[in-house]
Amino acid sequence: MKIDVRNISKSFGYFPALNQVNVTVPSGELVALLGPSGSGKTTLLRVIAGLETPEYGNVLFGDTDVTEHPVRSRNVGFVFQHYALFQHMTVSQNIAFGLRVRKTSKTAAAERVNSLISLMQLDGLGNRLPSELSGGQRQRVALARALAPEPKVLLLDEPFGALDARVRQDLRRWLRHLHDEIHVTTVFVTHDQEEAFEVADQVVILNKGAVEQSGSPDDIFDHPANSFVMDFVGNVNVLTGHMDGYGSYFHNLVLPDKSPSIGTVPAKVYIRRQDISFAASKDKTPFIEGVITYARRVGLVVHAVFQLSNSTTSIEVELPFDEWQSLGIQVGASVVAFIKRAQVFPVLEQAS
Ligand code: ATP
Repeated sequence: MKIDVRNISKSFGYFPALNQVNVTVPSGELVALLGPSGSGKTTLLRVIAGLETPEYGNVLFGDTDVTEHPVRSRNVGFVFQHYALFQHMTVSQNIAFGLRVRKTSKTAAAERVNSLISLMQLDGLGNRLPSELSGGQRQRVALARALAPEPKVLLLDEPFGALDARVRQDLRRWLRHLHDEIHVTTVFVTHDQEEAFEVADQVVILNKGAVEQSGSPDDIFDHPANSFVMDFVGNVNVLTGHMDGYGSYFHNLVLPDKSPSIGTVPAKVYIRRQDISFAASKDKTPFIEGVITYARRVGLVVHAVFQLSNSTTSIEVELPFDEWQSLGIQVGASVVAFIKRAQVFPVLEQAS
């Protein structure tokens, strides 16, 4: 079931939580809503569910405009960050809850519960109470309960947010695998970039109630639409300078400028930590000269700080440990840093 969010605006009092938001979730895909705290992710999910009424805009499920439809008739499954399981009911009873409400026959309900227990890898836990489960198992029960009535749409609001890092990682891989098996149209809210990129077919980046960019994870990573996305999606260094249509100039770094000439304007260059490598000679461009002031191995990578020549500005670099070792450089060495990839954005004057 395709979801179309068209031109949705929603305010709380005078505060615009969503401002003319357009999002399409193709049928059977998993789309992540990603953005900083307060960017409107949960509000958008609640508008799709029918838990919030927008002032403007429409929500379509397939060809049906459901904007005025109550939650109950939308047939959506919902999972929140905090387990909302019924504590006095067993795993099987929790999963069967939505089926009982819909008056599904006992035999059909038992069959559905058993197949979900096996799909969610909860075999042998059907008679346990939620208090006898781990956090990860509880969230899988919550998902099973949401999926039991065969919803057209699955809405997940930070479903793994309360779990520790390792369990989160396992569960998001498991969720992706599950999605590939059941293909229910899913919207997944997270503020964790890695989680969104690993799980989703498409990512929608929200900021201050508006969509900054939507696209595949690769698209967003390789072609960030603007400086907000570049900054948000990855560990970046930001240098300030200017651009003039011929080149962009940041301290002693010169980058070719392919943008049409708009005169000389202030600009910022965004360089990811992983897009920098070191060498002793200047045999590649673009490069920047400086001194290594800090280096520390963290497992398979080295985190280094590189201070630009004739400047107090430093940039952070992350490179594979074996590359660092083969270079044979030490803290204090004067080296050349090659910029493998950088994005330059003009600094636009704030509208007054
Ligand atoms: P987080 O990642 O912190 O959960 P979010 O991106 O999901 O944030 P929302 O919960 O959608 O953001 O909130 C967007 C904005 O709307 C926030 O500034 C929030 O304070 C405000 N807001 C949300 N719900 C209400 C409400 N019921 N009443 C008033 N303001 C609200």
